[in-house]
Amino acid sequence: MFYQAFDELLKAFDLGYEKIHACVRDCCLFRKELVHMEACPHCGSSRWKVYKHTKKVRKGVPAKVLRYFPIFPRFRKMFKSVERAEQLTWYDTHKSRDGMMRHLVDSPAWKSIDNKWPIFAAEPMNLRLGLALDGFNPIGDFSSRYSCWPVILMTYNLSPSLCMSKENLMLTLLIPGPKQPGNDIYVYLQPLIEDLMELWMNGVSVYDAFRESTFNLKAILMWTINDFPAYGNLSGYSTKGKKACPVCGVQTCSQWLKNGKKHAYIGHRR
Ligand SMILES: [Zn+2]
Ligand SMILES: [Zn+2]
Repeated sequence: MFYQAFDELLKAFDLGYEKIHACVRDCCLFRKELVHMEACPHCGSSRWKVYKHTKKVRKGVPAKVLRYFPIFPRFRKMFKSVERAEQLTWYDTHKSRDGMMRHLVDSPAWKSIDNKWPIFAAEPMNLRLGLALDGFNPIGDFSSRYSCWPVILMTYNLSPSLCMSKENLMLTLLIPGPKQPGNDIYVYLQPLIEDLMELWMNGVSVYDAFRESTFNLKAILMWTINDFPAYGNLSGYSTKGKKACPVCGVQTCSQWLKNGKKHAYIGHRR
């Protein structure tokens, strides 16, 4: 009943998503080489729901489910809109000329990416992303009532007013609760990180409705934001830049995963 209500709610938001079964103790996801496993290879827990009192296994009913909302189709949808496709290069023509910081494009982090990866930076449609791991409540008291932890992607290419608009908060993962994920969060981030790596390393073919041409879209994950107490705090997001290391990039994600440090900004090398 719990999951049913949940799925109906998501359906109402018209979001396509994949259900990925997870170990009840958060060790692994049952995907790839584990896709047919009936028990967790690390801790031996059943993949299926086990009744507390009778210890009966309900085969076919997963003990824990991660929901992943694939990002490629959603980026493609963004560029399919003439208006949004134009807005996605806003930053390229609005760099500050008076030394004042109005957008992340004026931040040292942004400039550092331009210097470090000039080919990436030369394509203004390429996306600069931020990842928020928790503290978000984009759909009312959704996460508290349903004990799920949303992982949100934000696109910083847009103008400051659009950057933090509701439509730009892209739900990518719903991590099952009831507890807030700790160091095991990297288990749940895997599907998203793999797609982000693909976007960084190879890119995906996308049609741009504003420029009326197809191009190879790449994206970089600039930083992650954790434990923001409220959505409103984000209005001061540019001042949070000091929290983000200027060398952060998707490339350093794997390093972060290995360490499994939840609060570390991705790729701390300075
Ligand atoms: Zn396990
Ligand atoms: Zn860093």
